[in-house]
Amino acid sequence: MLIVMDHHASADQVAAVVEAVRRLGFTPQPIPGENRVAIGVLGNQGYVDEAPFRDLPGIQELIHVTKPYKLVSRDFHPADTAVTVGGVAVGWCRDPVVIAGPCSVESREQVLATARAVKAAGARILRGGAFKPRTGPHSFQGLGYEGLEYLAEAGREVGLPIVTEVMRIDQIEPVAALADCLQIGARNMQNFDLLKEVGRIGKPILLKRGMSATLEEFLAAAEYVVAEGNDQVILCERGIRTFERALRNTLDLSVVPYLRQVTHLPVIVDPSHALGRRDLVIPMSKAAIVVGAAGIMVEVHPDPAHALCDGPQSLDPAGFQQLIGELRSLENLA
Ligand code: PEP
Ligand code: MN
Repeated sequence: MLIVMDHHASADQVAAVVEAVRRLGFTPQPIPGENRVAIGVLGNQGYVDEAPFRDLPGIQELIHVTKPYKLVSRDFHPADTAVTVGGVAVGWCRDPVVIAGPCSVESREQVLATARAVKAAGARILRGGAFKPRTGPHSFQGLGYEGLEYLAEAGREVGLPIVTEVMRIDQIEPVAALADCLQIGARNMQNFDLLKEVGRIGKPILLKRGMSATLEEFLAAAEYVVAEGNDQVILCERGIRTFERALRNTLDLSVVPYLRQVTHLPVIVDPSHALGRRDLVIPMSKAAIVVGAAGIMVEVHPDPAHALCDGPQSLDPAGFQQLIGELRSLENLA
């Protein structure tokens, strides 16, 4: 529940409400606004009884938030949150950020070559998987910590912050020591223990939507991270499973303007995993930016035909350059 105080409520009246929330066994979180104070009620499992607040002076409105998320919602936090990844701001109303790099770090040379190419073309964050969540155990599983070192070295060399996926709790600390942003992949979107742990670190989190997750579940997953104290969460739409089989997934871009209304967290789009085909990555990246995405994340490989993972959806450096060029001309039109 959110308790909105009257704009001329006194400090004593606010304190009385805070105390009433505490007496119910919940945690009050005052949110000072420009004109009025609101008090968030945290820790309740369900609907909060209004009776204890009915006679308290200075209350303008009691807003029930029955959804499984609250901290990530606009009701609770109306202003946009900008997430800063190694100095690069990702947020609604900012310059769209392009995150690019290989699906997997395959070698020092491969990630360095990709980093140089994407940096030269205009990427602002470098991606690359060291720990890979592959559908089958016989597929390339990533280089692990060795891959992380190569990614970090490549990021340092070209001057780009890096994002990489963690799959297990014990990977969080060592990865956070080198990476600027930790990715939670689609398959782990509801790994609640992992979400809680990344909520306790001081690094931004890139949370990908599970392939069968509703938006409510997606936001509830982000809530796990924010509830632990880390509000630096970027949401990433990467396509969902539907009855349609022509493409790898279904990319529903209406998610972007919808989430913009519902949450203050920035939303980016990953057309590579959504489509599974490089020829559709450029048009759908442009579409994502047009509908207001805070950025895109695309896979780029110096030699996609020989990529160990996700080659068919990876752009080569020339393709990536073309993408950036088309995005720039889009902005000129605007
Ligand atoms: C990835 O971005 O490397 C990845 C595995 O994507 P997803 O979790 O969206 O499948
Ligand atoms: Mn991939």
